[in-house]
Amino acid sequence: MYEHQYTCGTATDLPVGKIVCVGRNYAAHAEELSNPVPDEPLLFIKPASAAVPMAAPLHLPVGRGSCHFEGELALLIGAPLSNANAADVPAAVAGLGLALDLTLRDLQAQLKKDGHPWEKAKGFDGACPLAPFVKLDWLPDWDNLSYSLWLNDDLRQRGKSAHMLTPILDLVAYISSYFTLQPGDVVLTGTPAGVGELHHGDKLVLQLEEDWLRVETAVA
Ligand code: ZN
Repeated sequence: MYEHQYTCGTATDLPVGKIVCVGRNYAAHAEELSNPVPDEPLLFIKPASAAVPMAAPLHLPVGRGSCHFEGELALLIGAPLSNANAADVPAAVAGLGLALDLTLRDLQAQLKKDGHPWEKAKGFDGACPLAPFVKLDWLPDWDNLSYSLWLNDDLRQRGKSAHMLTPILDLVAYISSYFTLQPGDVVLTGTPAGVGELHHGDKLVLQLEEDWLRVETAVA
């Protein structure tokens, strides 16, 4: 059972809501999957039932083809946002963290080919491992955040918000023009290059900045 946590160990008192995600927010990742870079953010939603604690062993769907990791910067929403401007966004973000956008890549490729929605490939139970959030009672430099992901001790992803096609505050404002963001919702900001397939026994380490947050997990 997943509940939002802060890195200090306390629960957030926020319900677990929807998880709004953006596809192809880093040009280098769009290229590695041979996808065109979109003109506007490409949004999709994972249901609350996809959230699991990142540190617990990760259970991947069985018999559904390859499951890829995508390490992403995550925002925990603490106040409602609807048709917001970028300037409204910082006050509504309660926490900053890291997430895995787990993706059944073979299934997603088939769904894309058929012109169907991606939910079965992106929204399954356990599809969104979430680390504890750093409580934001101060304002970060939104356009200079960085994080890293190691798979079995190899550095595989290095994300910098400076490289996002749509910067964080603009992205959240854009999302709020389609979907009201409510307290307890989470926004995933896209993945940089370096995604890959997960296998039984793999070990993952994700780290935000040098020392804001570090989480280790393993594939069951
Ligand atoms: Zn993603």
